[in-house]
Amino acid sequence: MARARSERIVIAPDPSLSGLSRSLLARLAKLGIATKFDLVLHLPLRYDDETRLYPISHAPASGPALVEGTVVECDIKYRPRRQLICYLEDGSGVLTLRFLNFYMSQVKQLSAGTRVRAYGEIRHGFHGPEMVHPRYRVVLGDMPVAAALTPVYPATAGLAQDTLRHLIARALNDCDLTDTLPPALLGQLSLPSFRDAVLLLHNPPPQIPQSELQERRHPAWRRVKFDELLAQQLSMRLHHERRRSAGAPALRPRQELTRVLLARLPFELTRAQRKAWREIERDLSAPHPMQRLLQGDVGSGKTVVAVLAALQCVENGRQVAVMAPTEILAEQHYRKFASWLAPLGLEIVWLSGSLGRKEKRAALAAAAQGAARIVVGTHALIEEEVGFADLALAIVDEQHRFGVHQRLALRLKGSRPNQGAQPHQLMMSATPIPRTLAMSYYADLDVTTIDEMPPGRAPVTTKLISEARRAEVIQRVRDACMAGSQAYWVCPLIEESEALQLKTALETHAVLTATFPELRLGLVHGRMKGGEKGRAMEAFRSGEIQLLVATTVIEVGVDVPNATLMVIEHAERMGLAQLHQLRGRVGRGAGESICILLYAHPLTAMARERLKVIYENRDGFEIARHDLLLRGPGEMLGARQSGVPLLRFADLNADLDLLDAARAVAQELLRDQPPAARRHLARWLGARHEYLKV
Ligand code: ADP
Ligand code: MG
Repeated sequence: MARARSERIVIAPDPSLSGLSRSLLARLAKLGIATKFDLVLHLPLRYDDETRLYPISHAPASGPALVEGTVVECDIKYRPRRQLICYLEDGSGVLTLRFLNFYMSQVKQLSAGTRVRAYGEIRHGFHGPEMVHPRYRVVLGDMPVAAALTPVYPATAGLAQDTLRHLIARALNDCDLTDTLPPALLGQLSLPSFRDAVLLLHNPPPQIPQSELQERRHPAWRRVKFDELLAQQLSMRLHHERRRSAGAPALRPRQELTRVLLARLPFELTRAQRKAWREIERDLSAPHPMQRLLQGDVGSGKTVVAVLAALQCVENGRQVAVMAPTEILAEQHYRKFASWLAPLGLEIVWLSGSLGRKEKRAALAAAAQGAARIVVGTHALIEEEVGFADLALAIVDEQHRFGVHQRLALRLKGSRPNQGAQPHQLMMSATPIPRTLAMSYYADLDVTTIDEMPPGRAPVTTKLISEARRAEVIQRVRDACMAGSQAYWVCPLIEESEALQLKTALETHAVLTATFPELRLGLVHGRMKGGEKGRAMEAFRSGEIQLLVATTVIEVGVDVPNATLMVIEHAERMGLAQLHQLRGRVGRGAGESICILLYAHPLTAMARERLKVIYENRDGFEIARHDLLLRGPGEMLGARQSGVPLLRFADLNADLDLLDAARAVAQELLRDQPPAARRHLARWLGARHEYLKV
């Protein structure tokens, strides 16, 4: 305990900001600045180049420039509206300065004969060159031009650039900028020292090409980004190590049940499934908790791998919980597990919010007494009243749909937490995480990827069809169903209102029932009771329903191989991951499948881009990569975001090389130079040290 405490990194709040006024502190807080060191890391958005004076006649045609001249005339004009017009002359030409808002004091200040230096963009108008609202100052005596580019900082209302510049200059002077990293390492990576990097970024000398700063390619920028990525990697690795030091039941691969299941499966595991299974088998037999993410595109066959993991746990006489985000998906897992495991003599218990009181009581008792070896359910599994006799494995499907806290809650249901043992965790996701995200934000997890589809799947053909050609689509659905196939019709997404979403689903169902008198239709939506939903899905699975009208509740996991046609209405409203998931519901059997994306005009640029990506790509990883480019990591991480500080400087797309380097260096530092690693974390995550807590 004492040891853990001494290793905890705590940074005292920086007292130096306390000298500032309360209102200034509040404004700084808006910019995320709470300490003096935050000021050091408040880096410029861009720079003004006031290091060079241009003759008025030779000032650059594009971009701002600094000129100097003498005022020849300055007047308030009233046409076309009240404005201050000032003519500046420098021997090479005359420049008009135009102010639409001004103080009377300015009229006096800019009186004829005054020497003025003005900075702004020059436009060539009807009356010659002019600057509108330039930044200017009166020149008194011998005033040298700036020696460095002038930084322009992210600011907020009521906080002037000059104030920020002043505060930052003071912070640079007062703060300890000593390097956290050994010089040899910096040499290897061709990165400047931290001090040089931040001093340069706040005060760049004029000879540095602006573009290197603007595009953040300059070594000084790279140093800052590297530091940020390194801090992230270090904290993730520490999480990882902490987990390795926790205890978990070692579940030996006895291969009593797993071998029987493998022998009974109607198919062979793919190479990728076998590899995933080997990794999980090994993890489970270790005496510390597995925390593995099993990712694989829709339909890649993750479920069977999860079932094998569950069996290894059961072989060891321990309990398994399987949690899925929706009632439909959880129920489907329940069925699948039950159908595969019933021949092995294993009973599965079902637990969801929609259970009747008596059934629920029985399920709870079975879980608490240990009679139930495998419990499958929804969020209901993490409710207070649920307890397990000896839970040793928690499986979470579509993990990104759960928040950090929900996943944690399931883990805490583990047996003997008082003895420091945690259950193993297997998380599954069909929304692939691009490699860069996996390496950064998910670095505390081990990741297994199933990168291969089971054989014999005909690829899904995607068609983009305008709403105007709806009649054709209707004909296609009729033909497919009459020929013995089944189809999904996905209702438009109404994100703003659940009530409206329900109304739309009911209306769509009514309209389609009238359109297809010869077909048997069914409906599933999110507001149905679990039992009703289950019955509708079962009727679709058995072929009793030919056309299933559905909201996006069918987005995850639903598996009906005979369904080969899907129509998605208002596809332009849906996100990429959602479209990919929905499309993944077809193409699950051997028949050729089609996914029709119906869209309505007008399309936003973003919607157009999304439709193009989904049309051109089948591979979920490729789609996820585009999604990351379109939306950025913050949006993509969703619920997980709440637990992880987002990157401010590094860009996961542009700085992949730095990310690779940071990953390697993090391992090296923790192994060889723990004090340097601690210093680095303290500097970068100091204020967020809760992430470092044991
Ligand atoms: P997902 O990864 O999307 O969860 P599932 O586990 O639901 O995919 O699998 C999709 C379908 O593929 C299921 O019907 C499953 O039984 C079948 N399947 C899984 N593995 C194989 C395999 N190796 N060969 C043939 N079919 C398989
Ligand atoms: Mg699945």
